[in-house]
Amino acid sequence: MNKLTIADLDVKGKRVLLRVDFNVPLDGNHQVSDDTRILAALPTIQYLLNGGARLIILSHLGRPRGKPAEAFSLRPVAEMLGNILQQQVFFSPALLGPVAQAAIDCLKDGDCLLMENVRFYPEEEKNDVQFSKELASLADVYVNDAFGTAHRAHASNEGVTRYFDNAACGLLIEKELSVLENLIKSPEAPFCAIIGGAKVKDKIHVIGNLLNKADEILIGGGMAYTFLHSQGKRIGNSILDGESTDLVAETFARAETLGKTVHLPTDHVVAESFSNDVPTRIVEDHIPDGYIGLDIGPKTIAHFLSVIGNAKTVFWNGPMGVFEMNHFQQGTFSIAEGLAASSAVTVVGGGDSVAAVNRINKAGKMTHISTGGGASLELLEGKKLPGIEALTEKKHGT
Ligand code: AMP
Repeated sequence: MNKLTIADLDVKGKRVLLRVDFNVPLDGNHQVSDDTRILAALPTIQYLLNGGARLIILSHLGRPRGKPAEAFSLRPVAEMLGNILQQQVFFSPALLGPVAQAAIDCLKDGDCLLMENVRFYPEEEKNDVQFSKELASLADVYVNDAFGTAHRAHASNEGVTRYFDNAACGLLIEKELSVLENLIKSPEAPFCAIIGGAKVKDKIHVIGNLLNKADEILIGGGMAYTFLHSQGKRIGNSILDGESTDLVAETFARAETLGKTVHLPTDHVVAESFSNDVPTRIVEDHIPDGYIGLDIGPKTIAHFLSVIGNAKTVFWNGPMGVFEMNHFQQGTFSIAEGLAASSAVTVVGGGDSVAAVNRINKAGKMTHISTGGGASLELLEGKKLPGIEALTEKKHGT
C-alpha cells in the first residue's frame, strides 16, 4: 500500500473530513433497513473519534440527481449511527455555507457531524473544481473510506483531495485493497471466478482480465445466454446482448489460446414469460422457442459446485438466475452454499451476490465480502480507481 493511511495521521483536535459510503437502503418509513454499510465504516469512524478528531462525515445516498429530496436525506443515518456509537451524531442539513460552518465550529475533539447528502449538489458528480475547493475548506485533513464509490471521480472523493496536504485512506479501503490486490497478484491455484448477472457489457472486460489469472471461469445468469448463442446454442427468448457478441467471441478465442476453460450452463430452468406465476421446466442444451432461461439447472449446479469444490481461491460476482423470484433462485443460493462450505479463500462482490449470501445467513463463512461491486470489478479488470489514486502517496521511509 503506497498511499497514506489513517495510521499515518495525527488527528487530535483536527477537523477531519471523512468520505464514507452510507448509501443504505431505506424502508417506507424512511428508516435504515440494512446497516451493513454503516457497520463497514465503523472501524475508521471509531479510530478517528478515539484519536480526538472533530469528525465531519460526507456520503451520498441514492440518486437524487443533483437536487435536494427528503427521500434521500441522510438524517435517519445520523440517528442510527448515534445509536451504534452511543454518542450524539450531529446532523447538518447543509453541506456548505453558514449553517454548515456553524455546525463545524461547534465541534469539540471526539465529536461527530454527518453532513447532508453530497449528491443534492449537481457539482458533486461533475467533480466541480470550485465545489471541491469549498468542501476542502471545511477541514484540515481528509480521509476516504468509501470503497463503493472509489471507481468514480467525484468532488467528494477525487476533486477534494487536491486541496489537502494529507489525504489518507480509511481501514475499509485498506482491507478491500489488500484482499482484492492479493486476488490479482497471488491467488492460490486453482482460482475459480464465477460471473453472473444480466449485463454482458459490464462484465466482459473483467472476464477478459480474469482469463489471465483464473484457472476456471464459470458463467451463469442472463449473460450466459449471449455466450451460449455465440457457441451456436439455441436460446429461445432468453436475453441476448447483440452488441457484445464480438467481444464474447474474442473471449472464447483468448480462453482457448490460454488453455483456460469457460464453463457455461448445460441445463436451464425456463418459463414462457418473465414471471414467477407461470409453470417452469428444466431443459438441457438448447432452449426451445417461446421459452426464457431464468436460472441454471440442476446439472449445471452440480458441475459448478464440483469446480468450486476443487478451487483454492474463489471470486463471485453476479446471480446465476433471476433470484428475486423464488422459482429462479436455486442456482444462486446453491452457489452461495457452495462457497460457504468451501475451505478456499472466498471473495464475494456485487450487491446481488452479497444479498444472496446474506439471505442464507452465510456472510460469516466468506473470507471477504466486498462493499463495492463496481469498484471491485474495475480493480479486477486492472483499472486504477480514481478515488484511491487521488490519495496522498506515503512519504519515503514512512
Ligand atoms: P447485473 O446488474 O448485471 O449483475 O444483473 C443482476 C440482475 O440479473 C438481477 O436482477 C437478476 O434478476 C438478473 N438476471 C439473472 N439471471 C437472469 C436471466 N437468466 N435473465 C434475465 N435476468 C437475469
